[in-house]
Amino acid sequence: MRNNSEVTRYVIKIQGTVQGVGFRPYVYNRAIDLNLKGKVFNSSEGVVIDVEGPYENLAKFLETLKKNPPPLARIESVEFKELPLFNYPSFFIVESREEDGKKALIPPDVGICEECKRDILNEKDRRYMYPFTNCTNCGPRFTIVTSIPYDREKTSMKKFRMCEECEREYHDPEDRRFHAQPICCRKCGPKLWVVDRGGNLVAGENEWLHFVWEVLKKGKIVAIKSLGGFHLACNAKDEEAIRNLRLRKRRPRKPLAVMCRDLDTVRKYCFLNEEEEALLLSSYAPIVVLRKRPDFSLPDNLSPGISTLGVMLPYTPLHVLLFLGPFDTLVMTSGNVSELPIVIDNEKALEELSQICDFFVLHDRDIVNRCDDSVVKIVDGKIGFFRLSRGYVPKPISLPLSSFLPILAIGGEMKNNFCVVKENRAFMSQYIGEIDTEEGKWNLLSSVQNFLRLLNLEPEVIALDSHPGYLSSEVALSIPAKMYVKCQHHHAHMTSCMAENGIVEDVIGVVLDGTGYGEDGNFWGFEILKGNYSSYERVFHLAYCPLPGGEIAIKEPWRMATSYLYFFLREEGIFYGEEIFGRERVRPIVEIIEKNFNSPLTCGCGRFFDAVSAILGICEKSTYEGQAAIELGELVSEAHKKNVETDDFYPYEIREEVILPEKTILAIIKDKEKGLSPYLISLKFHNTIIQIVKECVEKASRRFGINKVVFSGGTFHNEYILIKLKRLLSSNGYEVYTHEKVPTNDGGIALGQAMIALSKI
Ligand code: ZN
Ligand code: ZN
Ligand code: FE
Repeated sequence: MRNNSEVTRYVIKIQGTVQGVGFRPYVYNRAIDLNLKGKVFNSSEGVVIDVEGPYENLAKFLETLKKNPPPLARIESVEFKELPLFNYPSFFIVESREEDGKKALIPPDVGICEECKRDILNEKDRRYMYPFTNCTNCGPRFTIVTSIPYDREKTSMKKFRMCEECEREYHDPEDRRFHAQPICCRKCGPKLWVVDRGGNLVAGENEWLHFVWEVLKKGKIVAIKSLGGFHLACNAKDEEAIRNLRLRKRRPRKPLAVMCRDLDTVRKYCFLNEEEEALLLSSYAPIVVLRKRPDFSLPDNLSPGISTLGVMLPYTPLHVLLFLGPFDTLVMTSGNVSELPIVIDNEKALEELSQICDFFVLHDRDIVNRCDDSVVKIVDGKIGFFRLSRGYVPKPISLPLSSFLPILAIGGEMKNNFCVVKENRAFMSQYIGEIDTEEGKWNLLSSVQNFLRLLNLEPEVIALDSHPGYLSSEVALSIPAKMYVKCQHHHAHMTSCMAENGIVEDVIGVVLDGTGYGEDGNFWGFEILKGNYSSYERVFHLAYCPLPGGEIAIKEPWRMATSYLYFFLREEGIFYGEEIFGRERVRPIVEIIEKNFNSPLTCGCGRFFDAVSAILGICEKSTYEGQAAIELGELVSEAHKKNVETDDFYPYEIREEVILPEKTILAIIKDKEKGLSPYLISLKFHNTIIQIVKECVEKASRRFGINKVVFSGGTFHNEYILIKLKRLLSSNGYEVYTHEKVPTNDGGIALGQAMIALSKI
């Protein structure tokens, strides 16, 4: 037995996210508390502590590190060994060498911490009311970094020279702001001001808050420069202001996110469970999609026709100050023009957003990396990403395989995130959004370049979608590499879900999606696949149907409905089509299809939903992506509210590898004619999809002897389908895996592309 007071020396190696998160000062302070001597330093793999002192204190020290690390640290492993005594005179922090810093990962942005909140609300504090307050535990990171290693010189805080007091805090290991790179105060840091549309100064640092409150009260729309881009803000209780914002932004129905003062405010409008609460309060500070309460009292035009609302809490000091005024809820939507990238600089804001906003809250801390708010939802107790971005990225994901060449996977064309693989870790980028414009393309390229610089990496292999016309592919091919790997869209969906779940065996992939380019040149999207990272087989798919007029049929679901009716039910279908949509609309569509004019074939699950949604008269024209399917899905939640429940489903056929929807569509029309409620029809349609997939999975499983099933694709944002299908398959003995680390929509496919490329190396 060792004597508790015997002086002992340990060298402790800690791996994980332990750099740039205040780990060394934390270690320093614990060591001082316990009267230990030695040193702490960053290494290429993490943090190393060389420490000596009474055995008993060393044991306590180790336990504290493991059990209560600093808030932002994520410890993956702790190793230690005993060495002969060195007799250190004191405990000290060794400054990092540039080389070590280059290997460390840039941390994500962090929502304001409680202590900083206290500082800005404390009249006696020197940072009272200062909107750029931050510390080692919170503040901007990824969005302000230009290159590595992560220190002030490599951030947009470079131009602000620390004042004496900030300098002292920065160098004091006992201060909360020790080595906080963006440290600043009113004396030395960024400034804020407000201008009108013409760029004229209307309020300075001391008046800005009251000014903004006053104009918001009058129903004005204000652009506010935030962490990763501009927000467009207006009073969330002012229906007229919201209508105005929608009109000016040309966004008639797409849900708008709000920011609430605190949890109590959120509870007034939405249901909130423990997980959702924790997520709202977390350092990630995402937009959390919550269920509205039945007595929801905010204007309906915030998220019309939808039973949920995207909510976030103030995540910068500027936001906290904003909510000291008369508002407890503000609309805070991305500051961009329709589908273009979110605006990040002052001049661009005035140029692009002046048609939308009345006033602009500007500041002089530049945003280096554009980064939208993340959007998440808790489904069945687990996190699901609609949008993976601020607070999470760069997001490391451990892979089940390792690559000896660095890989860049460019992602898809819509809802883009890209991904970089270094050995056995993937790093997901922020949300890039739509690439199908020149601006989008440029945004992707510059974001890729920045990201690679931050990871200190040059890709040797680049993965891209196999679609011949994607602008994202043009971007991918413009970046030099040794090897380019084209990936089938749905194969990438499948492998993405495999990768994040650490699966290496063959799986059955259920990919229910909008549309993606298939090997036969058609647009796939309702796929039951079998395979692994290197190859796949298409086992079942929905029958093809023309997309009359191409893209426009996606935006106008009534066209898709007409196509379904005519293509699968012929004369009978035309009859119903004319009854529902009118002869003058239906005939030209039939003609387009008959002449095979710009009518590519598709079997997207999303298109099937679109057709049914339009047939039922729920959504004939879509004003945002997925609207028809989302609104059809909403009927299911409505049904549950009304206690309508059924396991009934419509008939369908599976002939060889093709799922035939003729009988389904006919039965839906008959139900509609009988006057069955749309809730029930929607429920039965959802059940049909579930039933079809179940049968396909069973058949594929029997044929190939595979038991693992992965779900991917945008349709799995549909909670009813996700939960019910998962339960059904699980209770029948299948191992079902879903997305929790990357989006199930196209935002997640870059990870899958990277794995496909990895398997080809
Ligand atoms: Zn803080
Ligand atoms: Zn200062
Ligand atoms: Fe997709």
